[in-house]
Amino acid sequence: MDLTSYAELAVLLVNRGDELRGLTELRELLDETGRRESAARVTRRDLDALRELREELAGVFQAAAEGDEDDVVERLNGLLVRHPVHPQISGHDGQRWHMHLTEGGRVADALAVGSVMGLASVVTGLGVDRLGICQASPCRNAYLDTSSNRSRRYCSERCASRANVAAYRARKRGG
Ligand SMILES: [Zn+2]
Ligand SMILES: [Zn+2]
Repeated sequence: MDLTSYAELAVLLVNRGDELRGLTELRELLDETGRRESAARVTRRDLDALRELREELAGVFQAAAEGDEDDVVERLNGLLVRHPVHPQISGHDGQRWHMHLTEGGRVADALAVGSVMGLASVVTGLGVDRLGICQASPCRNAYLDTSSNRSRRYCSERCASRANVAAYRARKRGG
């Protein structure tokens, strides 16, 4: 089970908040990330739960960006209690046996368990400083730093080059 890919799900939920506006947008988002079965049975209640989850996940990234490790851990522990794992071995669609973190239940619960377990695994396996918020203002996207030298500062290439241009202009103005 690749928990880092679950952590990417947390990043996605934080950054694509616009897609949590309506059921159609949420279905598209799930479809796009290969969660077709979830997309087919998602409901209004899932949408509301995911909106709430998004705020909580954003809080985790914010605390990490501020370097408050205790706050990050406290937030994640709270989320782990509220979204317990119910692991099952599964072997659908011709895939080999693999673990599912949670079976059955609501779509929002499964996504919550996955994203929270993903972040918990990154924090314990790699470190709290692997979670961050894009520093190319006004962008506030979350990111996961999986670089070997922990050098990531921006959510995307686009934001990185925008920040470089801004820094260059500021240097020029400064003389
Ligand atoms: Zn599976
Ligand atoms: Zn950004």
